[in-house]
Amino acid sequence: MRIGIVGAGMAGLSCAQALRLHGHEPVLFDKGRGPGGRMSTRRLDTVLGQVSFDHGAQYLTARDPAFVAQVANWADAGHVARWPAAGADAWVGTPAMNTPIRVMAQDHDVRWNTRIDAIARDGTWRMGDEAFDAVVIAVPAEQVAALVEPHDRALADTARSAVSSPCWTVMAAFDRPVPTDRDRWTNIGIVASAVRNSAKPGRTGPEAWVLQADEDWSRDHLEDQPEAVEQTFLATLTKHIGVDLENIVATSVHRWRYAKASPLDHGAVWNAAIGLGACGDWLIAPRIEAAWLSGRKLAQRIGG
Ligand SMILES: Cc1cc2nc3c(=O)[nH]c(=O)nc-3n(C[C@H](O)[C@H](O)[C@H](O)COP(=O)(O)OP(=O)(O)OC[C@H]3O[C@@H](n4cnc5c(N)ncnc54)[C@H](O)[C@@H]3O)c2cc1C
Repeated sequence: MRIGIVGAGMAGLSCAQALRLHGHEPVLFDKGRGPGGRMSTRRLDTVLGQVSFDHGAQYLTARDPAFVAQVANWADAGHVARWPAAGADAWVGTPAMNTPIRVMAQDHDVRWNTRIDAIARDGTWRMGDEAFDAVVIAVPAEQVAALVEPHDRALADTARSAVSSPCWTVMAAFDRPVPTDRDRWTNIGIVASAVRNSAKPGRTGPEAWVLQADEDWSRDHLEDQPEAVEQTFLATLTKHIGVDLENIVATSVHRWRYAKASPLDHGAVWNAAIGLGACGDWLIAPRIEAAWLSGRKLAQRIGG
């Protein structure tokens, strides 16, 4: 089958990879300018050169044997490396968190910069001016319902029952090392995680930190101005780690409206009668491994 996949994050690409093994022809559409999804990396030019920040997921872990094998393959190829600062079982993409996504995408027909606002069905599925035998939706839960509602009310209701937490993220680059021996702090004030991004394996460029707010604070301050969020975060960094704000050479702020989903235990959803499926972390757990497993589970359901 020629299968159109909306979303080329970890779930969509893992599904595409497994669908190929079943002999299908996947085509992926992603609204992003490049590979990443919630494993994105942001790059900024500074007076000290380019700096990069993993501003979504900070690291991944692997427990399921199939994903352990996948991570081992990436490690052998130099696409991921261990990051002990987050624990003995933590891995990061190298040189950036989006590397596994970039590498997986190379094997597939991915249309970046292409947002899908509706899918139509008149015997065959249609997205834009292309026809497909089946469609897979691999986007965060909140964005699933609108796409599938006209075709599968039950799937839309399932997606609506998963609620994602938001996450404000502040990135800052410095002209000298921040004076702390630790590369990762957790739960300092409202900041759930503060990470010295430049200390992750394979990174080059200036000292870079990524700060992510806790869930409750992000929800309570969802509509705040980015400038105000930045000030609050940097004040926290000054108070707890002793950062001198004079040393900052670049900052950026990102609001993840749908960061981590309250998980359902469905694995994946496949409506064989009409050829419509869904996969994503929200169907298992809010983790990269779960997104990968969900994509594979959906491909198994679709079968050969
Ligand atoms: C701030 C933050 C911190 C996190 N920390 C961790 C962590 O430390 N460890 C961990 O394991 N996980 C972490 N996660 C969760 C992890 O990133 C996700 O579980 C995983 O990346 C989800 O993959 P996915 O493919 O399901 O979704 P996504 O990565 O969101 O992929 C969906 C893709 O669909 C695209 N898309 C959406 N709508 C459309 C549309 N209408 N048309 C076309 N394309 C569309 C998007 O551009 C995106 O590329 C974190 C997430 C966030 C945001």
